[in-house]
Amino acid sequence: MACIEGKSSCDNILSVRSSKNDGIYEVRVLKRWRVPDFFKPEMFDSVAMVLIDKHGHKIEAVIPENLLCVFDEKIVEGRVYRISSLSVKLNFGHSVSTFHRYKFEFNKNTKVEPCSNCAVIPTYGLSLIGADDVLKKKEKKECYKYLVDVVGVITKVQHNKDFYPDGKVIRSVTFKLNNERKSFCCELYGSLVDDFKNLVKSCSNGLPIVVLQFVRINYVQGGTLVQGVENVTKIHVNPATDELLRFKSGLVLYLSRSANYGGLLRSSLEPRLSEMLDFLKDYPVKTIGELKSDPELGTFIVNARMLDIVKMDPWWYPICKCNKIFDKYIGAFHCTKCNAADFKAAPKVKLTVEVEDETGYALVTSFDHVMAKLAVYDTSAREINSDNFYRAFAAIMGKSIMWIVKKTFHGPDFVGCSFDLVRVSNHKAVIEYFRGKGLYTTPSKIVRRRLLSNVIAGELNELLPSTTTTSDLEDLYLSAAYPIGLDNDRASSSGSKRPRE
Ligand SMILES: [Zn+2]
Repeated sequence: MACIEGKSSCDNILSVRSSKNDGIYEVRVLKRWRVPDFFKPEMFDSVAMVLIDKHGHKIEAVIPENLLCVFDEKIVEGRVYRISSLSVKLNFGHSVSTFHRYKFEFNKNTKVEPCSNCAVIPTYGLSLIGADDVLKKKEKKECYKYLVDVVGVITKVQHNKDFYPDGKVIRSVTFKLNNERKSFCCELYGSLVDDFKNLVKSCSNGLPIVVLQFVRINYVQGGTLVQGVENVTKIHVNPATDELLRFKSGLVLYLSRSANYGGLLRSSLEPRLSEMLDFLKDYPVKTIGELKSDPELGTFIVNARMLDIVKMDPWWYPICKCNKIFDKYIGAFHCTKCNAADFKAAPKVKLTVEVEDETGYALVTSFDHVMAKLAVYDTSAREINSDNFYRAFAAIMGKSIMWIVKKTFHGPDFVGCSFDLVRVSNHKAVIEYFRGKGLYTTPSKIVRRRLLSNVIAGELNELLPSTTTTSDLEDLYLSAAYPIGLDNDRASSSGSKRPRE
């Protein structure tokens, strides 16, 4: 069978059988690892890898020890190859990396050529399963034999050190991954702990979505525990794939519709004196025009009116018991004030509001709780949507009030500057204070709401499922291997039930 680059004449991984070893496959090496010698764990006896084709079908391949000198250097993780003349073996064991009935074994006649046709083959090759499916394994008290890919928002992290009598210290990290209402526990050991730390460290803007690829679902002490397999498991944090975007939109939609969201409800409370005192702190008072033209960063007071809410991003944020939001993960979330590392996952809405004075306008980002004091919130309308939020702030739209903003980035006009809201107040005492100093100069005006109704990411999206199930995956590969009585075409066609990246 000829294999012409750029044409779809290569064989489908689903059609691999033990009786058929003349296949030619164009595949990406999703992951490769050294397999430790069973008797001498410090030695390696072979190299294993997971290969994926353009249909998103996966199969394990093994280079036996005696052929490592021929193939080991030739195969690089992440690259695409055209491979032919492979032996086919049954894929069995108490833990296997793919759902395929068979696996490849390299032999001395195997041909490996680098292939430039890599754009069509998935880079991540995720087959995400949801929390429901993970937790189902608990009912069967089963240690699931296939390695799977799981996804969720991190809601609890704990770093552990176990000390053993022989002086050995074993580090691990345990965390929870959440999918809407359900969550499951995960545990990583060894080098995966550092991988995890480094990846999560680079995230900001709320709790990250973590994907664990090639993990084991184990039944441990009466519960389900997802465990990393050292050298095999891959960790992805907020990966940019279609499934992940859909997963995130689904969560945003879930959060927006959740009746428990109470972010603006504190609006009924009186402003605290400490919040008013911030306005006496001698921050420089500037106009919006000055704020945008002067490159100086820092905290400033502005007298301006709010025109609109241009964007709303509901998400979960890690907060300390003192209500401080952790903005960065530094090995662990840590509050210096409380000397605490425990955090709660709290739903927050990040708002982008447009404000203006007589010299110009600016976009200011703010967490809902900072603006809550100005809101008049209808307690029966708890859903997070732009109408409810606009209504909550309708009474102050266009009113001249006092703002404390932190300028965090300076850019020219076409890029724009970044401002975070520190405090905002329409309190009489605050207004009078600035009026007395001659710094309350922006007039109020009547503003009409512009028609920017779909400002939440999830409001527009039609949601396709982002996860599959282990039963679907088992069926897909099983029916391909034993097509009798089942749909014969499935093995040879693209056969994938779910959209892939
Ligand atoms: Zn704290």
